[in-house]
Amino acid sequence: DYSNKVSRNHYTHNDTAKSAHLVAKHYNDRPEVGVEKRKESKIIRLRSFNNWIKSILIQRHVRQRNTVFDMGCGKGGDLIKFAKARIRHLVAADVAHVSLDQMQERYRTLRNKSFSAEFYAMDCYKELIAPKLHPNLQFDAVSMQFCLHYAFETEEKARTMLENVSSRLRSGGRFIGTMPDANWIVKRVREQPKGVYKFGNSIYHIDFEDTIKDEEKKEGFTKFGCKYMFHLEDAVDCPEYLVHWPTFERMAKSYGLKLIFKQDFHELYKDASQEKDFGWLLERIGVVGGNNSEMSEEEWEAARVYLAFAFEKM
Ligand code: SAM
Repeated sequence: DYSNKVSRNHYTHNDTAKSAHLVAKHYNDRPEVGVEKRKESKIIRLRSFNNWIKSILIQRHVRQRNTVFDMGCGKGGDLIKFAKARIRHLVAADVAHVSLDQMQERYRTLRNKSFSAEFYAMDCYKELIAPKLHPNLQFDAVSMQFCLHYAFETEEKARTMLENVSSRLRSGGRFIGTMPDANWIVKRVREQPKGVYKFGNSIYHIDFEDTIKDEEKKEGFTKFGCKYMFHLEDAVDCPEYLVHWPTFERMAKSYGLKLIFKQDFHELYKDASQEKDFGWLLERIGVVGGNNSEMSEEEWEAARVYLAFAFEKM
């Protein structure tokens, strides 16, 4: 694991408010392109693969009649997965209100929905959700897909995020998610020659250009506020933060969350594709099998950026 020898990036209140605004703006500004346009994307298989990973997490940890909190829900890419899991109630929150509006519209038009839902446009890393909810409402599962790392801008944000995860999660409840694997990112950037602070391929790149210098490549990655620019073709282009795993796991523990599962996307693929149901799903959604439909090498490499996790509330 990379360590925290150099302390940098002391943010002022205004800086952090600005960056949440930037993230919200980035996601709000992304147009809703529709199914046809999405099919033309260079990362169509990668998108399907990411959905496959999320389906696995949801199928393994979300049960029928559960109440679920989707924090950082975006446009509601997981609505159908929750419908398939036959949940009873969904609480969804995102700082990007345009995305949230789109999710509400998707929910409205969802067929055969077995569940009720409530939506909150809010900064989940600054504001607590509990006071907005019915006093008796408890979550059986909290899902944070591809969004937790934005909280690692500051310790305070990471704590507020964890408070939101844990405060209404019942004991035995699950906290599942996906996020970039900071250990792998740091390893990759350290492999680069002197003076080079970025890596990637034609569909993604990660760039520490303005954040680290050579002497810091060895030990200058901080536990919070360690910023890089992430670009993913047709998807993301905004500042993100490394999540120092040991710090995250230790903090989660102090909120009563015990780690029960952690794998990077390549490991998870290796194991889960052997399971009958998940292997079949992978073929059905077109990630593997026939018709030149396999994911490209470059998409596989981009997939390795991420890891998946599950915690249980004690
Ligand atoms: N979870 C969705 C999915 O898997 O399709 C969306 C993932 S998108 C890559 C990241 C989401 O995190 C964006 O919708 C963004 O607005 C949201 N997000 C980032 N910072 C947030 C914050 N402080 N509070 C709530 N949502 C946030």
